[in-house]
Parts: sequence; structure tokens; C-alpha cells
Amino acid sequence: MADFGGTDLEAFRAETRAWLAENYPESLNAPMGEDDAPWGGRKFVWKNPDAKLWLDRMAAKGWTAPMWPKEYGGGGLSKDENKVLEQELRRIRARPALMSFGVWMLGPVLLEYATEEQKQKFIPSIIRGETRWCQGYSEPGAGSDLAALQTKCEDKGDHFLINGQKVWTSYADQADWIFCLVRTDTSKKHEGISFVLFDMTTPGVEARPIKLISGSSPFCETFFDNVKVPKDQMVGKLNGGWDIAKRLLQYERQNISASGFGGGGGLDLVEVAKKEIGVDDQGRIDDGDLRARIAAHRMDAHAFMLTVRRAEAESKASKGPSAAVSIIKYAAAKMNQERYELMVEAMGLQGLGWEGEGFAKDELAVTRGWLRSKGNSIEGGTSEVNLNVVAKRVLGLLDHQ
Ligand SMILES: Cc1cc2nc3c(=O)[nH]c(=O)nc-3n(C[C@H](O)[C@H](O)[C@H](O)COP(=O)(O)OP(=O)(O)OC[C@H]3O[C@@H](n4cnc5c(N)ncnc54)[C@H](O)[C@@H]3O)c2cc1C
Repeated sequence: MADFGGTDLEAFRAETRAWLAENYPESLNAPMGEDDAPWGGRKFVWKNPDAKLWLDRMAAKGWTAPMWPKEYGGGGLSKDENKVLEQELRRIRARPALMSFGVWMLGPVLLEYATEEQKQKFIPSIIRGETRWCQGYSEPGAGSDLAALQTKCEDKGDHFLINGQKVWTSYADQADWIFCLVRTDTSKKHEGISFVLFDMTTPGVEARPIKLISGSSPFCETFFDNVKVPKDQMVGKLNGGWDIAKRLLQYERQNISASGFGGGGGLDLVEVAKKEIGVDDQGRIDDGDLRARIAAHRMDAHAFMLTVRRAEAESKASKGPSAAVSIIKYAAAKMNQERYELMVEAMGLQGLGWEGEGFAKDELAVTRGWLRSKGNSIEGGTSEVNLNVVAKRVLGLLDHQ
């Protein structure tokens, strides 16, 4: 019989449980609102000092990036230990210590592609939540066809000079640094792209927020006007950025989907439906059709979360995510949009509020969350594009098929 290191793992579980009992701040037991999301970074204002304390404690153990190497500040956990940590965090319903594009997207590719100096310089501050990153990929003429990007990066001898525009850059106005795709050769498409990192306070960088249908402004148009970037901030080879860009997208699709987009605005769909619609003599939602659709959705959502966990375990056991994460991204978007549709339907008129008296805070959060969920099938690659990836790279179909 295989040895799974059971005794050691049980000891690790006991230690972890004791550590969490000692270190998880009690005030974080309340549900996390959208404004409580712990993004970290230089500009971040911590509403609750305990959330910062939780970040600092988790970061000191390297548990904001539990499986990254200890030499850069990571937790150095094995995949089995990480699974135990995740289970223990779920058991106490712990809030995330850190939400971070650095952890979800950039860090994994730095570990694969960056020089030793770059790893030392950038990874520890990601783990500690000190630097908030944004993603400079999309441009007005380059979204699904990302390799059509035109932001120009010229070699000026002792530095690079960047001119151009990005769009839909999430939290560019809040971020400290950007990981950015730039064109370094106009004679080739994919082989003319490079991957650079720079500080958002560099002269010539400007981020202008764009208002979303939900009323918030989570993303920006980002302009670069003669931005000077030190040459040691290019990751990988000159004109070798496309492979890094694609790899990062796989991590992005895996990580933003793994949470199922966190849908539902914190409300329980069944409880909402029971309250708004009423219950029959058996205590069930008093609308057979809606009840059946909610039951089907809950079964799908449960199966989806189990599939995500299996895919995560498989990707940790192999060399990171594969093109199959496009299946998960596609399904996660569909699932979240469906959950919000059902929630708004169950809430009836209470699901149609925008502001003002007559609507509770969590009801308004559902309406806005429902509008925000429209973007789930666009961000991180549209559903159509993810289906193309599945057809080509997972099923091996040719273009004309
Ligand atoms: C909430 C949100 C956050 C985002 N955050 C960021 C960010 O931080 N950084 C960043 O760089 N970008 C970000 N984006 C941009 C996102 O990556 C792009 O919107 C997305 O890649 C689609 O590009 P596009 O908007 O140019 O649409 P287009 O590429 O113009 O697509 C328009 C339509 O055509 C379809 N289509 C295009 N090509 C094909 C094809 N080959 N086959 C079938 N259908 C096709 C698409 O599915 C879509 O329905 C964000 C977007 C959203 C909604």
C-alpha cells in the first residue's frame, strides 16, 4: 500500500488547527463584504486592522502562497500539506488573508521564467501583500486577438521606452506595479511581443477609471507616454513574451474560476427564495418550477466545486495548469451568472433595487452583483474564446471542424 505520510500529515493538521485557533482574529468571523476584500499594496486602506493582522500573520508563515518556495518567502508546503491547510481554513470559514493578482497570476510565471534577481526582487513583496499588481494585456484593438497588441516598446540603449494604451486594466488606479505585454518587433506577430514589469508611479503612466454597469469602477484605460523602464525589468527574452503571456492566462483562468467568482452576494439562494416566495406545507419553496431550477443549480454548483478541486490537485501534481482550465473558466462564468439570475428572480421586486430606502444593503449587493456577473463571460478570455481553446487544445479539433 502506498505511504501517504499519514502520521506526518496528521501532525501537520493538529499544528495548523492549533495555530489557526490562536491566530485567526475573532472580528473576521463576520461575513466579508465587497469593501473588505484584502487587496493589500501601498495605497490600500485597511478598514479593519484585524484584516491586516491576519495578512501579516499568514504572510509570516508564507501561507499567502503556501506552495511557493521558502527561499522567496513562500510556505514551502507539499501538495498534501497544502490540501490540509485549505481544509482547515475552510473548516473555520476563514476569510482570505490576501487577494492578489500577484499571487494568482504573476508569481507563478515569475517562478517559471524570471531570473534569480527578479525572483528575489518581486516575489517576497507579493507574498507579504506589499505590492499590488495589475494586468496590462488588453488594448482597444487587441482583446480576444491579444497578439494584435500595439503598445510600442523601444530599446533606447540603457532603458526601454514605452508608448501606447491598454484598456479594461482592472484596478490600474489602485495598483503599485503592472505586468505588461508590449510590442518589441513589428515585423512578426506572436514573436514580436515581450513581457515587462514597471512601477505605476513612473512618469508618463496614467490610469483613468471606467464606470461599469454595476455602478463601480473596477477597471481603467491606462496610457503610457514615453515611459522609461529599466532593462532588467523585462521577464524572459526580448520578443519571447508570448509564451509567458499564455502561461499567465492559464493561471488566471484557473485562479479566478476556482472561487466560482464568489457569487450570490453572501446570501443563501434557498433561504432567500423561501422568504420571498413562501413555503408549502412541507416547508419547501412554494413554486415547483423555481424550486426544481434551484435544486438543479445547486447540484451543478456542487459538482463544479468538486471538479475544480480535482483539477487543482491534478495541476499541482503535474507541471501547473493546462489548456483544460478553459473548461473550468467557461463553466464558472455560466454558474455564477445562473446563480445571480435565480437570486434576482427569487427576490422579485426586492431584486430590482438600485439605491435608496426600501432595499436592504445585501439586496442591493445582489442587484449590482447580478449586473457585475455579466462580465464573467468576458474577463480572463471570453466564453467563445475558451470554447475555441477547448476545441483546439483539449479535443485536438482542427480549425475547420
Ligand atoms: C470585468 C473585466 C475585467 C477585465 N480585466 C482586465 C485586466 O485586468 N487586464 C486586461 O488586460 N484585460 C482585462 N479585461 C479585458 C478582457 O480580457 C477582454 O475584454 C476580453 O479578452 C475580450 O476582449 P474584447 O473586449 O476586446 O472583445 P473582442 O475580442 O472584441 O470580442 C468581441 C466578441 O467577439 C467574440 N469573439 C472574438 N474572437 C472570437 C473568435 N475567434 N471566435 C469566436 N468568437 C470570438 C468574443 O467572444 C466577444 O463576444 C477585463 C474584462 C472585464 C469584463
